[in-house]
Amino acid sequence: MKFHPFIAQSLQTLVAFSALTGSSFSLVWLEQQRAAAPLPRQSCWNEMAPLVVVDAGHGGHDGGAVANGVIEKKLSLDIANRVKKELEAAGLRVVMTRTDDSFLSLDERAALASTHQAAAFVSVHLNTDGAGSAAEGIETYFAETQALSARQLVPAGSSQRHNEGGSAEFASAVQHLVCAATKAENRGTKARDYAVVARAVCPAVLVECGFITSTSESARLKQAGYRDKIANGIARGVALFLQRQAFQVAGS
Ligand SMILES: [Zn+2]
Repeated sequence: MKFHPFIAQSLQTLVAFSALTGSSFSLVWLEQQRAAAPLPRQSCWNEMAPLVVVDAGHGGHDGGAVANGVIEKKLSLDIANRVKKELEAAGLRVVMTRTDDSFLSLDERAALASTHQAAAFVSVHLNTDGAGSAAEGIETYFAETQALSARQLVPAGSSQRHNEGGSAEFASAVQHLVCAATKAENRGTKARDYAVVARAVCPAVLVECGFITSTSESARLKQAGYRDKIANGIARGVALFLQRQAFQVAGS
C-alpha cells in the first residue's frame, strides 16, 4: 500500500511511539501530525481543558548555564513562552512558573502544580557539557519516585496522579515529538529525581532542549525558527499525552 508522504511519515512516527509506549494510537493525533503546523484546537477539551504548568528553568540571580554567548535563563523563558502559545492554541490552559527574569525556588515551581490542580508539568532547560565538547541533542527527564512532599500535597481521593506510569510515558511522548520536530539527536528519556519534577503532584518532565556548549547546536538555538520547532514538539508531546490520558479515563 502506498501512502501520501505526510501520512507515511506520520505512520512511522506513530508506530515508533506505539512501540515506545506499548500502546495504540488515535486518529485524532494522526491528524495533528502535519509538520510545523500549529496544533489544532481539541474539541474534547472545550468544557474543562486540562491545565499545564510550564516552567522556564532558572531566572533572576540564577542564570543557569552560560556558553557561546547564550545564557540559559533567557533561552528557557523564550522557549517556555513559545510552548505556552502552542498549548493555548490547542485549547489547553497554561500557568507559567515565571513570565519574567524572576527567581523561584524549585519547591515554589513544583507547588504550582498542586495550587492549580495541573494535569501536567513541563520544565524547560538547556544542557551543557565541558567547554569545546561536541555533545549535542535533546533528552527528557522524569522522576522515578515522587517526593514525599508531593505525595502529601495530593488530597485523598484526588484524581491527580504522578508516577503511576504517567511520567515515563509523558517523557517518551515529549522526547519523541520534540526530536521529530527538530531533527535533533535523540538522547532518549532518563529517570532522575530532579527536585522540580519529583515534587510536582502531576506527571512531570524536564526537557533539556539542547547543548549550549556545542557551537553548532547553540547556533541553531539562537534561531527563533528553531526554538519554534522545539516548542511545537514539546506542545505536541504534552497534547498527545493528555489526549491519551483522557481516552484512558473515558474508556475505563
Ligand atoms: Zn538548567
